[in-house]
Amino acid sequence: MTQNANNTGNTKISTFVLAAIYITLALSIVAIIVAVGAFYEGSLEVTIYLLAIGFIAMALSGYYLFQSRKHVANLKLEKPLILTAIDCKACNKIETREFKRGDFVYKDMEPCPKCKSNGMIVAIYREVKEKEKPVNV
Ligand SMILES: [Zn+2]
Repeated sequence: MTQNANNTGNTKISTFVLAAIYITLALSIVAIIVAVGAFYEGSLEVTIYLLAIGFIAMALSGYYLFQSRKHVANLKLEKPLILTAIDCKACNKIETREFKRGDFVYKDMEPCPKCKSNGMIVAIYREVKEKEKPVNV
């Protein structure tokens, strides 16, 4: 629930940042066009300044665009698996299964499949996947 709120917040921020990047990109193109115009008018100093501003802005916005695309790609790949650990006090068996809505720690669970006594949720956590290690040749 809190996670969902965070996710929508991130999306809003990234949309805003993306809009700012596109505006910067558009302005940098305008600066370059104006620079070309200034070059034909003979004002070399203005041309150099505008070209510098245009290319720096374009490089920055291009870099951020690349970074944000990479970030979005990472978000798409990442599917966090939330696990619920159920502990049976009678036989000391900890069973893990996928998190279901309504699960909370210390909640009494359905009877243990082995000894039929009630289990209890002892932990809810996100599965940590080990990152693939690069193969050394
Ligand atoms: Zn049991």
